[in-house]
Amino acid sequence: LSGRLGDVFDKLTRRSSLSEGDVDAAMREVRLALLEADVALPVVKRFIADVKEKAIGQQVIRSVTPGQMVVKIVHDALVAMLAGPDGAAEPDPMALGLDIAQTPPVPILMVGLQGSGKTTTSAKIALRIKTRERKKVLLASLDVYRPAAQQQLAVLGEQTETDCLPIVPGQMPVEIAQRAMKEARAGGYDVVILDTAGRLHIDEALMAEVAAVREIVRPHETLLVTDAMTGQDAVTIASEFNEKVGITGIVLTRVDGDSRGGAALSMRAVTGVPVKLMGMGEKMDALDAFHPERVAGRILGMGDIVSLVEKAAQTIEVEDAERLAQRLAEGQWDMNDLLGQLRQIKRMGDVKGLLGMMPGINKMQRQLAEAQVDNKVIDHQEAIILSMTAKERRNPDLIKASRKKRIAAGSGTTVPEINRLLKQHEQMAMVMKRIKKMGGRKGLMNLLK
Ligand code: GDP
Ligand code: MG
Repeated sequence: LSGRLGDVFDKLTRRSSLSEGDVDAAMREVRLALLEADVALPVVKRFIADVKEKAIGQQVIRSVTPGQMVVKIVHDALVAMLAGPDGAAEPDPMALGLDIAQTPPVPILMVGLQGSGKTTTSAKIALRIKTRERKKVLLASLDVYRPAAQQQLAVLGEQTETDCLPIVPGQMPVEIAQRAMKEARAGGYDVVILDTAGRLHIDEALMAEVAAVREIVRPHETLLVTDAMTGQDAVTIASEFNEKVGITGIVLTRVDGDSRGGAALSMRAVTGVPVKLMGMGEKMDALDAFHPERVAGRILGMGDIVSLVEKAAQTIEVEDAERLAQRLAEGQWDMNDLLGQLRQIKRMGDVKGLLGMMPGINKMQRQLAEAQVDNKVIDHQEAIILSMTAKERRNPDLIKASRKKRIAAGSGTTVPEINRLLKQHEQMAMVMKRIKKMGGRKGLMNLLK
């Protein structure tokens, strides 16, 4: 498939901006790739429509083919959709991303279909919380239906040296949950992980039972555990659990297998709930923070496509830097430049280290950096600039009260945020003018010596 994708992208002719035809040709292949990765059809349709709209008319950067450009746009959109509004990939694979900094005992409820990996993941999370957060964890199995289910959790508890709620024969899930919370309070536990029973399919009785447990324990996290191999069903499973029980996170298991993990995209898209963790094997330490980049590469078809995307991204970076240097030399600096710079900062990561190398404009740049290091801030700023008209971007002085309101509404931000961005732009523009006075690019180079 990768070959097929590559062919089509190569066939796209070189043009300065992407035409509808370019994008359509590429999208037909992207659509197939997503369906082959088992992304649910409605999600595929919506994704394609969104990305198509974004892609048409986008500039093809010099030295990059339109095909590569489309790949980059598709890949970025996939990553963005998987990552959600909170943005960047969790750089620490051992991070849990769970909301457990609460008054103890903090309940975590594990839900999902039978065999999805709830019991295994419960023990994995317990082990991670114990070793990493140094917190006291209690495991409790509410699975009274499968004969050996409670015993299975007890064995994993022993293996990970985690306490398990003693099994009392004949108790129902709600009673066990109550007993678990009582025991946790009495025993000074920080976290209680409640492992529920699954069914082969969504079933009303199961949902009602899990919802009843939820009412009693009021969990801070309700994690839906799903097998990465889940196909078109992922949408129904995720939306049913979200509607009937309410979920705060998704755990994708068996990511160590060879499925392409389209379920992650489907579930993220229909529920808006973030995928938080990935199960990477049967062993107790095989648990990773969710990594949108990795999963996006896998869904799209990996291999050459991913490296193609990376190459394109690098090229764009160089092009941006060149363009920036040119603008600098001309003493020009508008919102498009700021947008380019924000995106570059996001790609570069360690801003402070880089800025330390620029003596002359150190202080101001550093202030700028401090405001920008937070990726969330950068995302907001990006959204603000994208909500400006082309005219406003070239001439930010146009942006007065009513325009600010419109831009704030369009970007989901606030007027004070827009004011801050405008102020920042103004400061940068001043720096640029100063650099021009010093002799443009040459002056800047002298400064850096
Ligand atoms: P439950 O019915 O939802 O509680 O599922 P279990 O936790 O009992 O898991 C069912 C099977 O899947 C077990 O044999 C687990 O060892 C296996 N399993 C769970 N998570 C993973 C994973 O991330 N990778 C692999 N390869 N196997 C897993
Ligand atoms: Mg189980």
